[in-house]
Amino acid sequence: MMNRVALITGSTSGIGLGIAKHFAKEGYDIMFHGLENNGGEIAQSVAKEYNVKTSFSNANMLEAEAIENLVKQTIETFGGLHILINNAGIQFVSPIEEFPNTKYENIIAINMNAAFYASKAAWSQMKSQNFGRIINISSVHGLRASEYKTAYVAAKHGVIGMTKVMALEGANHNITCNAICPGYVKTPLVEGQIKDQAKAHDMSEEEVVEKVMLRKQAVKEFVPLKAIADMALLLAKDSSTTITGTSFALDGGWSAQ
Ligand code: NAD
Repeated sequence: MMNRVALITGSTSGIGLGIAKHFAKEGYDIMFHGLENNGGEIAQSVAKEYNVKTSFSNANMLEAEAIENLVKQTIETFGGLHILINNAGIQFVSPIEEFPNTKYENIIAINMNAAFYASKAAWSQMKSQNFGRIINISSVHGLRASEYKTAYVAAKHGVIGMTKVMALEGANHNITCNAICPGYVKTPLVEGQIKDQAKAHDMSEEEVVEKVMLRKQAVKEFVPLKAIADMALLLAKDSSTTITGTSFALDGGWSAQ
């Protein structure tokens, strides 16, 4: 049997990269994607290290057509598409009155709309295979709100709604759809926020981590990449047919409160 093929958006950095390596280690072929300049090199080195097939695309998640082409290219390159992980995302923090419209629109487009376009494009292939696993990387901010994150919270809540609809429509085709909702994970996206918050609050970066970032998590630790990758692997399994339409909080107890 051919290897299962996983397309992971935003997989040349952070959480996506962590998931991609974990999947490669388990024998999945990987379509890498992201805007990082070294994406091609990452894809090659993972292929070599884990003896799987990989490829790379830098499709812009702001453009529906580019997203459709990314899915097409994946199917053409690997001969199938079994796992779609909608992970690419950006963040921008601002009070409502000052929130720039273009930033708002881009966050909705990249963090939410792109997940729809990619899933829509993958749908007929997954149906014809009678197998599909769509995993949306939402956030604890898909379940809870924080000030100054209007666009991000709206997009991440939207992704959870979309996840439920896809679970219903995929049910007769063995296409499952679930969301993973992490608390804070130490990735380049968060490292940027630590620096910004340290400036904004006139605090050291250590103080920001302890008093601002992890304030709402009961467990005062960043969520390990491996925990997210393990959860994604479980959801991708053949045996996970009945796990669908659900959101898994990996948030150190944040949403328990
Ligand atoms: P990251 O910045 O390390 O990676 C984001 C990836 O998305 C990169 O590969 C980047 O190139 C890609 N991307 C961004 N804009 C794009 C565009 N226009 N076109 C194509 N690719 C684009 O961030 P991360 O922390 O790994 O976040 C990954 C996902 O996890 C995001 O959806 C984020 O909202 C979510 N998340 C992160 C955390 C956290 O604490 N880091 C917590 C909860 C949820």
